[in-house]
Amino acid sequence: MAHQDQAPSGVPLLDVNRDNAPHREEFIEALTEVLDSGRFLFGPDVTELETELAGYCQVPNVVGCASGSDALLLALMALNIGPGDEVIVPSFTFFASVSCITRLGATPVFADICPGTFNIDPESIESLITDQTKAIIPVHLFGQCAEIDRICQIASGHDIPVVEDAAQAIGAAYNSRPAGSWGTVGCFSFYPTKNLGGMGDGGMMTSCDAAFADRLRLFAGHGMRPRYYHQVVGINSRLDTFQAAVLRVKLRHLGDAIENRSTIADRYDRLLTESGLVDNGEITLPVRDSNAFHVWNQYAIRVENGRRDELRSYLAERKVGSEIYYPIPMHQQQCFEGMDFRHNGLAETEKASLEVLNLPIFPSLTEAEQCRVIEVIGSFYAVAAKAAA
Ligand SMILES: *Cc1c(COP(=O)(O)O)cnc(C)c1O
Repeated sequence: MAHQDQAPSGVPLLDVNRDNAPHREEFIEALTEVLDSGRFLFGPDVTELETELAGYCQVPNVVGCASGSDALLLALMALNIGPGDEVIVPSFTFFASVSCITRLGATPVFADICPGTFNIDPESIESLITDQTKAIIPVHLFGQCAEIDRICQIASGHDIPVVEDAAQAIGAAYNSRPAGSWGTVGCFSFYPTKNLGGMGDGGMMTSCDAAFADRLRLFAGHGMRPRYYHQVVGINSRLDTFQAAVLRVKLRHLGDAIENRSTIADRYDRLLTESGLVDNGEITLPVRDSNAFHVWNQYAIRVENGRRDELRSYLAERKVGSEIYYPIPMHQQQCFEGMDFRHNGLAETEKASLEVLNLPIFPSLTEAEQCRVIEVIGSFYAVAAKAAA
């Protein structure tokens, strides 16, 4: 047995290699097949993956593309969104949820979030709708669906399409219905840190409407149909065969990966509660919507009393990974300086960006590592309490 008094090891925020290691042989076999086929674009794995994902997400139509960011852009392009149009979106999200709107010359209108789940607040959406509203983009943040039943109800009452940003939420569901199957279109990312992560960039769009899915495919292929005849000005956005081959391997293990993430999240809830830091008001646990099946792409706590950055530095000094998703809300980004965004109060968004802290969560994170994370968090508060005494 090793010495007990060794310097305690760090805990990575994420270890992609450790997650991938058990499937190494499967990856090599799948990638070798692509290499030998020479079909690096439009290979059979792409079509196979689209079919498998249609089954997994319970949607009839899946269109692969080059990234989650492209999926969102293509969704809005296919909806003819342009100058003068307004799109309602949360400000507490990743940039791509909003840049797809401004790229097309349309105007983002920012809804606030529910403090517990960090997801867009349906009431806030409703009060922002005008005749100019041409789409609503709810983001299923951290792997938990927004209140998508209510959002779709509000949207359909005004005949407004819903674009689900499900980049962090593949496999998630609301009232047992999968993310990406609710709106006019669902947008997914295969960025390596996502729950179904590739070995590079990739994305996909889901739709229950076959004609709309066909339009998405048209826009993703330069608007070209037939060859060298361009019906619309699209973009070039393809999921390549190597990524599709990798993703097919990973899809086989996605159920297990989500189960592990869920076990880890439950354990964080328990360990943090047992630490007393929840009861004494230092830390707030992520809130679970009882209608949602959460896939835990992120485990997001709130650090109360203005001590988030101090705790994060303390963790970093002890080599414990953490991250802030997201430190600057979209309405405060430099690139949007001087833009006068319409909203109806973003107090919860701004508060969340100051308090949120994301702890390590990935399928192969061990119980010992989790205990170490909690131990370091506990010692941060113990040291502070001693200093105050
Ligand atoms: C990752 C992400 C995207 C963009 O996906 P990419 O594949 O990195 O382009 C969009 N929206 C959200 C909420 C994301 O987390």
